[in-house]
Amino acid sequence: MATKWVYKFSEGNAEMRNLLGGKGANLAEMTGLNLPIPQGFTVTTEACTNYYDCGGKISDEVASQVIEAMKDLEEIQGKKFGDLEDPLLVSVRSGARVSMPGMMDTILNLGLNDEAVEGFAKKTGNPRFAYDSYRRFIQMFSDVVKEVDKAKFEDVLDDIKAEKGVKFDTDLDADDLKEVIKRYKGIYRKALNEEFPQDPKDQLFEAIKAVFRSWDNPRAIYYRRMNDIPGDWGTAVNVQTMVFGNMGDTSGTGVAFTRNPSTGEKQIYGEYLINAQGEDVVAGVRTPQPITKLAEDLPECYEQFMSIAHTLEEHYRDMQDMEFTIQEGKLYFLQTRNGKRTAPAALRIACELVDEGKITKEEAVSRIDAKALDQLLHPNFDEAALKAALPIGEALPASPGAAAGKVYFDAEMAKLHHEAGLKVILVRLETSPEDIEGMHAAEGILTARGGMTSHAAVVARGMGTACVAGCGDIKFAEDGKSFTLGGKTVKEGDYISLDGSTGKIYLGEIRTVPASISGNFDRIMTWADEIRTLQVRTNADTPADALNAVKFGAQGIGLCRTEHMFFDAERIPKIRRMILSTTKEAREIALNQLIPYQKKDFKDLYEVMEGRPVTIRFLDPPLHEFLPNTMEEITALAKDMGVTVEEINMRRAALHEFNPMMGHRGCRLAVTYPEIAKMQTRAVMEAAIEVKQEKGYDIVPEIMIPLVGEKKELAYVKEVVVQTAEKVKAYYESDIKYKVGTMIEIPRAALLADEIAEEAEFFSFGTNDLTQMTFGFSRDDAGKFLESYYENKIYESDPFAKLDQKGVGQLIEMAAKKGKATRPDIHLGICGEHGGDPSSVEFCYRAGLDYVSCSPFRVPIARLAAAQAAIANR
Ligand code: ADP
Ligand code: MG
Ligand code: MG
Repeated sequence: MATKWVYKFSEGNAEMRNLLGGKGANLAEMTGLNLPIPQGFTVTTEACTNYYDCGGKISDEVASQVIEAMKDLEEIQGKKFGDLEDPLLVSVRSGARVSMPGMMDTILNLGLNDEAVEGFAKKTGNPRFAYDSYRRFIQMFSDVVKEVDKAKFEDVLDDIKAEKGVKFDTDLDADDLKEVIKRYKGIYRKALNEEFPQDPKDQLFEAIKAVFRSWDNPRAIYYRRMNDIPGDWGTAVNVQTMVFGNMGDTSGTGVAFTRNPSTGEKQIYGEYLINAQGEDVVAGVRTPQPITKLAEDLPECYEQFMSIAHTLEEHYRDMQDMEFTIQEGKLYFLQTRNGKRTAPAALRIACELVDEGKITKEEAVSRIDAKALDQLLHPNFDEAALKAALPIGEALPASPGAAAGKVYFDAEMAKLHHEAGLKVILVRLETSPEDIEGMHAAEGILTARGGMTSHAAVVARGMGTACVAGCGDIKFAEDGKSFTLGGKTVKEGDYISLDGSTGKIYLGEIRTVPASISGNFDRIMTWADEIRTLQVRTNADTPADALNAVKFGAQGIGLCRTEHMFFDAERIPKIRRMILSTTKEAREIALNQLIPYQKKDFKDLYEVMEGRPVTIRFLDPPLHEFLPNTMEEITALAKDMGVTVEEINMRRAALHEFNPMMGHRGCRLAVTYPEIAKMQTRAVMEAAIEVKQEKGYDIVPEIMIPLVGEKKELAYVKEVVVQTAEKVKAYYESDIKYKVGTMIEIPRAALLADEIAEEAEFFSFGTNDLTQMTFGFSRDDAGKFLESYYENKIYESDPFAKLDQKGVGQLIEMAAKKGKATRPDIHLGICGEHGGDPSSVEFCYRAGLDYVSCSPFRVPIARLAAAQAAIANR
């Protein structure tokens, strides 16, 4: 049978999200619930993929099914598409599997042309409305389909409003709008050298193609990368009968949430505009009214609206984000979806739904976006500093969080300064999808225009960035390089602070304090811990980091990098001495001086970890990283060692490497200088034994040898470790147990993992290096070219952030299997950056690892992701 590319709303349901996209599937579901939905049909996501497979063409089969569906729709509506007296008008709406706000564009009032608009005016008896609909259509079609600059159209509208001396588009009459249309068509003609298309069928197919194309616009590609959305999903297209909120004072349009998306409070939350259409509310053309005002304006509509909103939340068992339109007193729903929310709101809603008996604890745990927890782990303003700060204004608390940074007025500047390591606050009149990268770069966003559902507010909440919106008191300077607020002038580069939870704006930079896990957050994390089997450790080199991680729930240290312990001002001269020594004896003397320091570091770490496992990795970086660089350092060292500057310089030259990443580092250092491994072993063992004796913790040191590619290499270093450890044990008369294991970070080690497991008691996948060496490009340089790879759809995401499951993952799976074959009880973990990335955590669970290890701030994310992995793989 031929493929079905087009589904009527009455033929689908919510389960068909992959095929119909989220919007289409929910329109179908609502149709099934007998709610007032303007009817229409959905062209499937598969048709989108087919469009790309056909080299950017709609195939005949798809086209004929669209035409068929249009005929059915004409019958349902009792109107003809393209009719000149009473035309059927439709909207063309994109809708991917998951909502991608602002990424793809909708066209309204499609089917109008120069003649039909006259018929439409006569038929409705409302010429003003007919012309308003047509001018909107021309504007949207030109922008979305033909990429004619939106601003040109807005300028015309502004000009005509100015000529008439009025403020709002609603003040323009039919004749004014006719003039608008004339000028709009002029813009179109000038930009494209052709007349505005008059054939509705052409309009329709052009619009469908534009939706398909928009799947691959740069904004969409960027959004997908930020949100782990695969490029081959495609978007569906919904063609839906128009209903009109712009027919006068008993018409309107709005958006609403069943619970507060910012705090999670159970209370309908929405905004609407009378006599408006489509995006007017979100775009902030006029200030919207709160939904409660609807009870006064149109009480019956309000009652019905509340009842449907309630039905929808009950039905989906989750907070809903809805769009509705009222046409001459009759209410229609145009969209519902599980609403985007801030992390605090997500936690509160999940807990309350459990308490209300609507969802299970497991459902609650699965529903929280693990990555979004990041928002909660970052600092809040310090109470005292906040009290002392100078508030200069207040506006809508659009997205919670504490943010302080330097002010920049455009997205590009914000991005540049963020990349240069500065904290930035993006201040805009209002934001638009083009600003997305700048918004990402910002600690906080402040806008002068727009409501709680404005672009800035919605996107900021989605990203977990603090946002204060709609601060009408801001006055921008002519040149756009400063603004005044509350009697103060803030210039580009000045510090301000934003509190996204209160909406307050402060002058200067306010100190912040670390976050803690409590309340709803703690409840969800406790449930997650009950569910998960994968352990979560942390990567920590200092007692402070380790303590922080334990507070966040870390069950041990998966990676303690010892090289960081040498950079201290007091120690670096000693390590330099060691490196620059030419004899074993001289090296040993220098190393012996380092033992007390190392031992103290490890003792501190063991103490804060209170008996939890700690994996200590032996010295890894290329030696030259420790070498003196400035003339001052070199002379000081020469003096200290009693050698000449020339001698130091010769040694520096000898240590120079062309490719240090692949040079004399990791276990290679221990192979050439076993004294280093000896010293580190002594420090580890003595620290463990002493803390064990002093505090009674049951410590089993885990010594990890990095960068191994061959069993004999590991065996060689292990021999040094074991000999030293046994000596220490004998000296202390201790029976302490310890483990020696390795990192799997060289592809050869993964290939020969069965042999390596004969020596290694544990494996820790060092996926930073493993990724680097599998791809053959370095982490530090990849940023320079990966961008082009995303643009050209060669790679979809940064393999250093999100584990490449296809390639690197294969090595991990293989090594895990081989390791277990040799040593069934081998302990397996991951300690690369990926250990805190939810999709990578799921992979680790499936690959049979025992634990993931990640930076302290990502520990809660990993805990939740581990629980979600267990639930998803039941
Ligand atoms: P987005 O995904 O960006 O929200 P939508 O497809 O939901 O885009 O449409 C944008 C706006 O147009 C929404 O406010 C929606 O309610 C409105 N709209 C879409 N289709 C229709 C229609 N058939 N009749 C009236 N308004 C519509
Ligand atoms: Mg919408
Ligand atoms: Mg490494």
